[in-house]
Amino acid sequence: MSKLEIKDLHVKIENKEILKGVNLVVNTGEVHAIMGPNGTGKSTLASALMGHPKYEVTEGTAHLDNDDLLEMEVDERARAGLFLAMQYPAEVPGVTNSDFMRQALKSVSGKDVPLISFILKYEKNAEELKMRKDLPHRYLNEGFSGGERKRNEILQLKTLKPKIAILDEIDSGLDIDALKIVGENVNDMISKDFGCILITHYQRILDYIKPTHVHIMINGKIVLTGGKELIEKIDANGYEWVKEELGIEF
Ligand code: ADP
Ligand code: MG
Ligand code: MG
Repeated sequence: MSKLEIKDLHVKIENKEILKGVNLVVNTGEVHAIMGPNGTGKSTLASALMGHPKYEVTEGTAHLDNDDLLEMEVDERARAGLFLAMQYPAEVPGVTNSDFMRQALKSVSGKDVPLISFILKYEKNAEELKMRKDLPHRYLNEGFSGGERKRNEILQLKTLKPKIAILDEIDSGLDIDALKIVGENVNDMISKDFGCILITHYQRILDYIKPTHVHIMINGKIVLTGGKELIEKIDANGYEWVKEELGIEF
């Protein structure tokens, strides 16, 4: 069992406050969906937790079990068991997928990873994601379609086995078949040792990865938390009703 605990997190980008006091507790075994209109700070929360240098934490705390994440470098956070699947995964020409993955695994686990067992595991994971066979030898994300990049993020997730993952719009750019594959693969990982934060605009992915908690983020804060009834309400009515119900402006 592990716990990610975020308290009153305030984050600035280029001197503008984007997150205005986020509180969130995610235990392994749980799936927390974070929904909200564009530009409300969902990706900022993900980047700040991973330690992106552009995002300045001005107030609040974030712990993974007893580790103070905000005191740690990016690689230390990954070693502590935090993983981020990015909204826009980058291309890295010159580094093959399998080399990158083996290096990342070595860095995160702190152990040398024997080549044969690594390859077997990597290929099995890739097959479960129904990825192309030539994938290990291709450069990281180079020439990958949007959907292939997202699957590659999930391949990394399956290989690294973090405690808590933040999946930022892994559903964007996926067709229905890919959505099902990605969703089922993530869902299969949920256990007493793994939980995730799922940032999404759409209810579709939540058919495959069942959230235990649903949060609505508006203007840098989580303003409403509930269960899957919130998803249906958002799907049918957007976010205007939140404003009226809570009497807030955004
Ligand atoms: P969401 O993921 O909810 O759509 P973001 O966290 O990406 O929202 O963005 C929140 C706000 O922060 C937006 O106004 C956005 O323009 C701004 N922002 C996000 N990232 C950066 C950045 N790297 N540089 C400058 N502004 C940024
Ligand atoms: Mg505050
Ligand atoms: Mg975003």
